[in-house]
Amino acid sequence: MKIAKQKEIIKYKASLFDLIHGNECKNNKVLSWLRVVKSFLDVEDVYYYYNDNYYFRLMEDSSYTDLPKEITYEKAENLFSDSMLIDFTTSSSKIHPFFDYGFLFKTKEKSPQGILWLKFKEDLLLREDVLQDFWEESCRFLQFFMQMKTIKDDEHRYRELFNVTEMFHSTREVQKLLSHIIVTLERVFPKYVFHLLLSNDYDDYANLPIGNFDFNQAVPKAMKAFVNGSMEVDEGSVLYAPLRGKQGVYGVLEVDSQGGPNFSSQQVEFIRLLAYTAGSALENAKLYEQSRRLITDLQLINETSHQLNMNSKMSETLSLLKKQIKHSFRASVVGFTFLEKDEFEILSTSSPFFFTSEGEKYISFVRNRIQKEKDSIFIGDMMDKLCNGSYRSLMAVPMIQGDTLKGFCIVLHELPYSFSFDMYKLLQSFIHHSTLAITNAMLREKLEKLVITDQMTNLYARHYLDEKMESSLSEDRCGVFLLIDIDDFKSINDSYGHQVGDEVIIQVSNHIKNAVGDKGSVARWGGEELAVYFPNKSIETGKQIAERVVETAPDNSNPKVTLSCGVTSWKLAGDNRETIKELVRRADQALYFAKNNGKNQVVMGN
Ligand code: GH3
Ligand code: MG
Ligand code: MG
Repeated sequence: MKIAKQKEIIKYKASLFDLIHGNECKNNKVLSWLRVVKSFLDVEDVYYYYNDNYYFRLMEDSSYTDLPKEITYEKAENLFSDSMLIDFTTSSSKIHPFFDYGFLFKTKEKSPQGILWLKFKEDLLLREDVLQDFWEESCRFLQFFMQMKTIKDDEHRYRELFNVTEMFHSTREVQKLLSHIIVTLERVFPKYVFHLLLSNDYDDYANLPIGNFDFNQAVPKAMKAFVNGSMEVDEGSVLYAPLRGKQGVYGVLEVDSQGGPNFSSQQVEFIRLLAYTAGSALENAKLYEQSRRLITDLQLINETSHQLNMNSKMSETLSLLKKQIKHSFRASVVGFTFLEKDEFEILSTSSPFFFTSEGEKYISFVRNRIQKEKDSIFIGDMMDKLCNGSYRSLMAVPMIQGDTLKGFCIVLHELPYSFSFDMYKLLQSFIHHSTLAITNAMLREKLEKLVITDQMTNLYARHYLDEKMESSLSEDRCGVFLLIDIDDFKSINDSYGHQVGDEVIIQVSNHIKNAVGDKGSVARWGGEELAVYFPNKSIETGKQIAERVVETAPDNSNPKVTLSCGVTSWKLAGDNRETIKELVRRADQALYFAKNNGKNQVVMGN
């Protein structure tokens, strides 16, 4: 009997050996094994329930549709509490009429692996002696088979990982890579639910399970994974893997096993590696993006400074800067102020908003802060600073040269949080690089004005009027020249002193300037002699203005003075152009006539 039994078992072992070294795929191997079992034990049918991590699940090849599809762990534990082998033929508590005999198989680590049920033939002869050995051999077979399966699964997983890593090295498109990572995870772990929680604002992930890592609402384990960069498991069923790069953590991968069994160490390691790949991808993309932005910013700064230095005119310099700022930051309004004798003057290039009373509030808010702190200002929402203001986002940068505050630039947008920190940094660079160009342009303009202005009267200096006349004579079609002299001025000096004399010259200068407006240019010709030139004006216009000036001069001076005026004009006739010398000579002559004719009058030159 014993020899017979051993012979039988050897036959069974030989079949298992063939099975292991056969070419079938893993599911077929189990089915083949069941066929071997059926013929070896000579039973009517066999049913195998494998452990699928949630239940013992029926291998799907049974023709009996009313068999239970699953058996819970709990039930299995109760059934096999005394022995790994159960004989139902004598028991009344069958779990199904088909099941006569059951085996529980365990892994090497003693965790449940599967349950095998036998349906005996009618004329069954129970072979108790063989069944124990059969159980042992089957256990060994299944263990070996499982080991092979684990190795195969690992291989499969690492092949997937390899694909992801390969893709990581071949693309800069983060979205493509992240979606690939998620698809891979879903393929390898079809029962789990995945979420990528990213700490930076990444948009446009359409249908992917990607969200923002909410620092205020993150569960403690997720937070821990993010802060420590470590793998964390929450209550055994949710795993948090940090998305780590070399320079930091960019978010957390959340893996929810949906109440399934604990994560195995292989699973954890696989998820860790995938999360690391995602982290590195995000880091790479961020660095790439950063370096690209830096290059564009530098190009922009370079180009702007270059243009600023080429532009000598203050208004052009500021217009250019304003255009650049509006374009780069999508700013709504841009303002410039310049510190002039302790007062912040709003420069005319600024957006019109800054000349309104509301704009003035923004200016004074920035002025107070900058004067106190001498530092740039970056405010995402002005709501609590200036309530009901039309603009919510604010950036302001002082223009500082050497140690001196020269002014500031203010940039606004209607919506809150419209400007990024990078934009703020770029604005600082812009202003930093253009402050010198602006102050230079300002100084140059001041100097130019100084050179062409008569200091006492604030009228143009004679040489500047000469230049204007020169260009008008060569470019325009006509023009009028007035020479005005204060009558009996010596007596003013004699009666009231030189200082009052000076006052009178200034009064007369202002009087003429008011009468001329922007029609012509007024200059101090010398002493108490003044001159006006009207480009492109007819002699009638010149005469009218001259007569008004002379007529109203006594009312506009104190002590009262009268004026004498000589008027000449020129008109383009053929190729002969008038010379300044000739024009002035004729005016001088007319003035001489006026003086000789009783003063206080206008004389037309020929
Ligand atoms: P007339 O009506 O013929 O012009 O008599 P007048 O007294 O004005 O004579 P004239 O034009 O020849 O002399 C001008 C005087 O004005 C000479 C000079 O002392 C004086 N003068 C010239 N420049 C200034 C100045 O900048 N300030 C003052 N206070 N006096 C000046
Ligand atoms: Mg005079
Ligand atoms: Mg004179």
